[in-house]
Amino acid sequence: MSGPRAKGAAPTADRLIVGIGQLVTPAGPGAKRGPQQADLQVLDDAALAVTDGFVSWLGPAVAWNGVARDEVDLGGRGVVPGLIDPHTHLLWAGDRFDDLEARLAGVPYQRILARGGGIHATVRATAAAPRSELLRASRARLADLVASGATTVEVKSGYGLSVEGELAALEAIATLRAEAAVRVIPTLLIHLPDPDDRLGHLQAVIERLIPDVAARGLAARLDVFVEREAFSPREAERILRSGRAHGLDLTLHADQFHAIGGVDLAVRLGARSVDHLEASGVEQIDILAQGSAVATLLPGVSLELGLPGAPGRALVDAGVPVALATDLNPGSSPLHSTTLALALSLRLNRLRPAEALVAGTVNAAAALGLADVGWLGVGARADLLVLPEPDWRALLHGLGGPGPLEVWAAGRRVDRHAPGPERGAVGLEPS
Ligand SMILES: [Zn+2]
Repeated sequence: MSGPRAKGAAPTADRLIVGIGQLVTPAGPGAKRGPQQADLQVLDDAALAVTDGFVSWLGPAVAWNGVARDEVDLGGRGVVPGLIDPHTHLLWAGDRFDDLEARLAGVPYQRILARGGGIHATVRATAAAPRSELLRASRARLADLVASGATTVEVKSGYGLSVEGELAALEAIATLRAEAAVRVIPTLLIHLPDPDDRLGHLQAVIERLIPDVAARGLAARLDVFVEREAFSPREAERILRSGRAHGLDLTLHADQFHAIGGVDLAVRLGARSVDHLEASGVEQIDILAQGSAVATLLPGVSLELGLPGAPGRALVDAGVPVALATDLNPGSSPLHSTTLALALSLRLNRLRPAEALVAGTVNAAAALGLADVGWLGVGARADLLVLPEPDWRALLHGLGGPGPLEVWAAGRRVDRHAPGPERGAVGLEPS
């Protein structure tokens, strides 16, 4: 570990944050792999200046000689970068309480699906919900993730299924994005085929949905679920190539239950990330190690379904950059805390605390193609967490707490307890 050097002269700043007992951050943007995945920089007794929402100066407090319009003293507390949650399905309506009861009673998921439960129930409820209700419920979930430390949150469509349903979902995500105090990254997810018209649906996705989403700027990312019960690698390739032709970044759900070629496809097409990987073995890890995709792990799914976690330890050891996400969804991962996703990765994916922090910050940013978040330094967005304990590892040692004391996005407090004028629109909604 080494300390970042003070740089970036800033005679005037909007705000100076002083009283940072210890600031811990990845060194800079870009996916970290292998030993770098555990590399954190530590700066004691630091100060950080914010101008236009970005860090304009960072260094030892005694070295600051500029002028700031406003000063905030953190009283010696620790600071880490705001967390990035690069994989969520938080836009849905309805609930799966009956499914949970059935699952606990031993009813297989296939039978729950066959009687109209599971994802079908969520698709129906989401389509039937008034837009205001869909937004209210989703806004509350986003506020949960923010309270847990997330300052950038990816949100997928995927419960609309039809062209019209997916467009409506992305329009709702655009509303969340416009009002949120944190950064929201929309993704078009092609979730499941239409069992009654597989080819027709695929054609509608390629000929109408993807061009329309790209032309209207509703999403810059395209995701496809590659699985026996979803799309084959061959079908997914057609969808992804169409997305690529329309300028979309690519990501995949792959190897959740079966390794059927999704990882190979992701690496071949240069996807930014490949997510899940619970069923990945040596062969898939080798393929990933030779590519550039970030492996995004979702330990909430392993916990909820009682299945072995993705091979996080082996991936890091093989030099694959690993990221973490909640996969917040009503079925396989009702996990409303990004911090808890990181904490679970120590237990379920055998990551070490420093690796998990890098996975939840700069590597998660890389999975989304973002260079200005996930680290703290001159040029980064002033997204940061103020910690309740002097040692940042407390954040990942506890399960369900202690969470961050304060959450800051673009240099302003946005957590639920922030004083009124500080916080943005999301983060206030009682959930
Ligand atoms: Zn997912």
